[in-house]
Amino acid sequence: MRISYYNGEYVNHDEMRIKSGDRAFYFGDGVYEVVRIYDGRFFTLDEHTDRLMASAEEVMIRGLERDEIVEILHEVRERNAITDGALYIQVSRGIAPRDHSFPDGSKPVIYASIREAKRPHGQMEEGVRAVTTEDYRWLKCHVKSLNLLANVMEKQYAVENGAKETIMHRDGVVTEGSSTNVFMVRNGTLFTHPADNLILNGITRQEVLKLAEANEIPFREEGFTVPDMSEADEVFYTSTTQEITPVTNIDGRQVGDGSVGGTTRKLQSLFNKKITQLKSVKQS
Ligand code: PMP
Repeated sequence: MRISYYNGEYVNHDEMRIKSGDRAFYFGDGVYEVVRIYDGRFFTLDEHTDRLMASAEEVMIRGLERDEIVEILHEVRERNAITDGALYIQVSRGIAPRDHSFPDGSKPVIYASIREAKRPHGQMEEGVRAVTTEDYRWLKCHVKSLNLLANVMEKQYAVENGAKETIMHRDGVVTEGSSTNVFMVRNGTLFTHPADNLILNGITRQEVLKLAEANEIPFREEGFTVPDMSEADEVFYTSTTQEITPVTNIDGRQVGDGSVGGTTRKLQSLFNKKITQLKSVKQS
């Protein structure tokens, strides 16, 4: 049986009942995280927990305990027989009658569930197609908000145009993908948008930059335009579930020579090594 956590209880996932006053339900008034589990072990758990706390703080969801979050994540992992998975956790502002302003005295509501997730080997090997479009989201994209309507619309635009991801731009400057961070490689240097309010500072993005630093791959956290990206040698995007996915075609035009580039392959191999090393890391 699949066990999830909702509002203080561990429950049978298929029979879980959501409270009608949960503000996640009315307003998407909350924040979330997705944490990867490889071979029964959490990957970058501290980073995801820190970001969840920071997102909550940013939208003034108060009274959240970091230790409680960590305990729930471990408990959900342990109560389900899934070794390669993705653990989803969301925190809403609380339960109250529908009214936009913050309710008095309500406590945050935590929901967590786990699903099986396979590594995306095929697309990491072969690359994917992407399309570009304008980024019309709000100006707090650094918050991992439950409000994903714009991202949902952007992702669907990719699907309807035979692509896997939509790469967004603001005034021509590439921000990120609908659910990923975007990198380009030019003359051996890695470029990605700075971690400001216009993007989510992806944990995988941060891991890639750490790997670049440690392995002397030059990088610049600097905006680049859609035409820059079209002329790049390599483009890839990153996320917890998509890892490092090469983009070999953008808006119907091939990137570089259309094959997966050397810097992308190098980073994939370094990232893979990190995942493999997890097996020897003890977790409480
Ligand atoms: N940007 C957006 C908009 C996302 O939704 C995600 C995935 N949650 C990312 C970037 C990648 O972040 P991470 O590497 O932490 O999964």
